[in-house]
Amino acid sequence: RIVYLNGEWLPEAEAKVSVFDRGYLFSDAIYEVTCVLDGKLLDYDGHSARLKRSTGAIGIKMPVDDETLLSLHRQIAEKNEMTEGLIYLQVSRGNPGDRDFMFTDDMTPTFFMFTQKKNVIETKTGKNGITVASVEDLRWGRCDIKTTQLLYPSLAKMEAHEKGADDAWLVRDGLVTEQSSATAYIVTKDDVVITRPLSHEILPGITRASALVIAEKNGIKVEERAFSVDEVKAAKEAFYTSASNFVTPVTAIDGHPIGDGKPGALSLKLRDLYIEDRRANAI
Ligand code: PLP
Repeated sequence: RIVYLNGEWLPEAEAKVSVFDRGYLFSDAIYEVTCVLDGKLLDYDGHSARLKRSTGAIGIKMPVDDETLLSLHRQIAEKNEMTEGLIYLQVSRGNPGDRDFMFTDDMTPTFFMFTQKKNVIETKTGKNGITVASVEDLRWGRCDIKTTQLLYPSLAKMEAHEKGADDAWLVRDGLVTEQSSATAYIVTKDDVVITRPLSHEILPGITRASALVIAEKNGIKVEERAFSVDEVKAAKEAFYTSASNFVTPVTAIDGHPIGDGKPGALSLKLRDLYIEDRRANAI
């Protein structure tokens, strides 16, 4: 792979970052993942806006302007001949040359991008869905900022795997917050899509924002409210959304089948609608 690091295009083995970088020592970094389809960027405006919001929230200065940011996304896909896959981007606060909890506002951020070629449309999970296990949500109080502090979501997903499930649905005060790295939804018996409202407790999913608009445009009712694990068990369908998996069915929670235990019709329809709409609007 050719990666981008601080203004340079490099073979991945030559891309090196200081061990004093605050991204390494403090997880003091923001990231974004944008999907590439047909060689174009999906939901790019949402991802670039969230990147600026996240860096702004912790006071990291964006090292590039809007035009350069878009151009770098296009260039990295081209240089790696990637027509389908993901672009990962990370901005950390940088290297102060020592370990110190305090930082200054004149630091030079470390800006890194790489690609992951993969099929995003024709996937097993997109068709067959995944199973989840409920795991207590022990993350910090600003889950709306997309930081690289991913230890807890990673441990939660490991715990879900140990319990025989594919991923974790995190639960705070008896209510589902989100999946380890995706937004969670249920569909009621009356075909209403339910998802948790935005707050500091969840990441404002870019796929979520688009999927909700696309659902309503297509006559699917949406209600933003929190729901419990018991409601998931009693739901007609469940699904999750993320930039890398679009809309993906969830067929069981804690070993309990959701609906008939098969991917739901509305979930699969919303997946097709999402892909069709975003593909047509990719840049
Ligand atoms: N929630 C969490 C915790 C995530 O990590 C992610 C994506 O990485 C999402 C939700 C989904 O966000 P998006 O649709 O922007 O990929």
